[in-house]
Amino acid sequence: MSVTFFSASDADPSVLDGQTVTVVGYGNLGRAMALNLRDSGLPVLIGNIDDEYRALPPEDGFEVMDIGPAVAMADVVYVLIPDEEIGTCWEREIRPNLKPGAAVLYASGYCLAFGQVDLPDGADVYLLAPRMLGEEVRNSYVDGAGFFAYLDVEQDASGQGWPRLLALALAVGCLQKGALQLSAEQEARLDLFIEQSFGPYVGTAIQLAFGVGVQKGIPAEALVLEMYMSGEMSRTFGTFSDVGFYRSTTWHGIVAQYGGFLRTLDLDKAAMLARFEQVWEDIANGGFAAKLQAERDAGYPTLKAIEAITQQPNDPITVAEDRVRAALSDD
Ligand code: NDP
Repeated sequence: MSVTFFSASDADPSVLDGQTVTVVGYGNLGRAMALNLRDSGLPVLIGNIDDEYRALPPEDGFEVMDIGPAVAMADVVYVLIPDEEIGTCWEREIRPNLKPGAAVLYASGYCLAFGQVDLPDGADVYLLAPRMLGEEVRNSYVDGAGFFAYLDVEQDASGQGWPRLLALALAVGCLQKGALQLSAEQEARLDLFIEQSFGPYVGTAIQLAFGVGVQKGIPAEALVLEMYMSGEMSRTFGTFSDVGFYRSTTWHGIVAQYGGFLRTLDLDKAAMLARFEQVWEDIANGGFAAKLQAERDAGYPTLKAIEAITQQPNDPITVAEDRVRAALSDD
């Protein structure tokens, strides 16, 4: 399977001359994208519901209005509200107000992959999905480093889909780093799969190793330092990117290499593999999306229960982190 990479030299910013971009949702990513687009010279409007975020765009010098009227004025609509909310907003406020020839841009393939939105007649539909947190989308634009993103044209009604999308990618700041073509369906499945396969193993390993270490007499502060607070582990992940997942092995001493490989050979990989296949299947057949929609419709009971656990100030992991932070802070 061949892939296509894009860089800044692939984009012609002039194809967006005279076009207005409406950013729907001034949250984590919405604020960062709006500021980047404006600093790249595009007229930007903000469409937002009447919530606590609505006061922020005027403070940043943007005009803000209800979503419907803001969409009606746009040549490009960047939809930056939570994935599970997009379907309702699409039906009520975005689709009925789209100008003919407008382009709709999503930062995640989720709503397209799981049928929450359709491909409207006469409009372009693009994916511009950053692989970066909202705040860093802004910081990396300002410092010129850029950020990585996945791009695709899902519907090209204008016949100008790729030139327009590449100009938008340049304007938000991702082509300074680079982008790769990936369909909305592939992006959504990939994103969910890594969060739900790799992620739970890392989180569970941290919790279990912490418990065993404390039980064996290691200070809790040393455990959280060893696993992530010293920065050694995030640097190790950095070497995967800079040097290579396998090639960076030689950056570790003989003891770490031998011990790590010995225990990797022992792992029950068949069980892990079966689990990953199951997770993939549940994502690909829409099972996960249905569960998330039911969770949303019920008022997020599971997420509230998780928050009650993770935000407990007295959890031993949190207490250990606070002690380390207090002891090592510069104040
Ligand atoms: P946020 O959680 O920050 O929410 C964005 C805004 O949407 C907020 O102002 C929120 O208001 C508003 N909102 C919530 N519900 C509705 C609704 N029903 N109708 C209209 N507005 C609503 O979202 P993110 O910025 O985190 O994510 C936006 C998109 O970007 C998603 O598609 C996500 O997958 C994608 N993305 C996000 C990244 C990130 O770093 N955050 C990275 C890559 C992609 P309120 O809080 O008051 O409900």
